[in-house]
Amino acid sequence: MKIHEYQAKEILARYGVPIPKGGVADSPEAAKKLAEDLGGSVVVKAQVHAGGRGKAGGVKLVSTADEAGDFARSILGTRLVTIQTGPEGVPVRKVLVEETIDVADELYLAMLIDGAAEGVVAIASEAGGMEIEQVAEETPDKILRVAVDPVLGLQPYQGRRLAYGLNLKPELVGPISALVENLYRLFQENDCSLAEINPLVITSDGRVLAVDAKLTIDDEAMFRHKDLDGLHDPEQEDAGEVEARKFDINYVKLDGTVGCIVNGAGLAMATMDVVLSGGAQPANFLDIGGGADEDKVANALRIVLMDSDVELVLINIFGGILRCDMAARGFVQRGKADPSSMRPMVVRMLGTNAEEGRKTLQDSGLDVTLVEDLPGAAEAVRAAIDHA
Ligand code: GDP
Ligand code: MN
Repeated sequence: MKIHEYQAKEILARYGVPIPKGGVADSPEAAKKLAEDLGGSVVVKAQVHAGGRGKAGGVKLVSTADEAGDFARSILGTRLVTIQTGPEGVPVRKVLVEETIDVADELYLAMLIDGAAEGVVAIASEAGGMEIEQVAEETPDKILRVAVDPVLGLQPYQGRRLAYGLNLKPELVGPISALVENLYRLFQENDCSLAEINPLVITSDGRVLAVDAKLTIDDEAMFRHKDLDGLHDPEQEDAGEVEARKFDINYVKLDGTVGCIVNGAGLAMATMDVVLSGGAQPANFLDIGGGADEDKVANALRIVLMDSDVELVLINIFGGILRCDMAARGFVQRGKADPSSMRPMVVRMLGTNAEEGRKTLQDSGLDVTLVEDLPGAAEAVRAAIDHA
């Protein structure tokens, strides 16, 4: 679960990470009032679940409260498109109004779960303020990494190693290593999968401040963080992903045109490869799981077809606990319920009751191409794409 910058900063502050003074507003009047209280010279920032706001016009430094109100008016209620959103952008419902900071230096600090390191990795860079991907590409030697032992936790010497590696003035090594330790405690106690401060600013008068913050909480751990439930903002997420979560379906929206429906995450990966070898791109990753019933199957198809990018649906079911005849009835149920939403389907079914399932689809009147195996599926995808 992603949360907004202003929410992330409230949590950072609770863990002793210094943040700029400010507040959040959902109207131009409230933004103006906050700016007045802060002395007029403020930064106004669109609150969306995406980075790259600065370059996209979502962050503005102003010198009077009136200007703060005007900028809030111009951006509230619009959709912001950044390099991290799709072309449709994400809605701006709130702005964060903060005191302007006299920036001497911009650093980067993040913690994330690293699969290769099998644990938390802390990353720091003296090249803060810009996208870390760009730093990694252009000046990889400016990125410091420290892998944290999951049993021992972050050790004080590791925080100091990062701080020294950032080439800071000696008097900043103490505060920065303390900040690294606090961020690790926050990360652990809230089951984060990502905690990122970019930029972490050193001010002209030598203070350290988190000027931007991004926190992601591991969805699988949300059951033990009921206090964080209220931070959820479904409006910022893909509509299909929100809908899928309601039905306990694993769904991730991607950029291609072939919707995929499978049972099992491994099969989903293999199916995405099939799409690629058929010369197309997957529109999503969708796993309906093992214990699905007819309605859940129908909902899976409905969710895939909610995505207007989908031109073709590739169904790859290996019947086990999930019976193929039942899955087929689910697809037909959806096809009957909303024929106009349907797209051509390529179906491979194998395993329990596969023959019944295939017959059900064949007799349904839906636009279905039945295939025998994965190469056959790739071929059918290629044929359908070439036709389109
Ligand atoms: P992002 O583009 O979505 O990552 O948004 P950020 O919050 O990181 O803002 C983009 C950039 O605006 C930062 O890297 C800073 O350089 C700049 N910025 C944000 N707040 C302030 C501020 O209070 N003072 C100054 N001088 N620059 C700021
Ligand atoms: Mn940033």
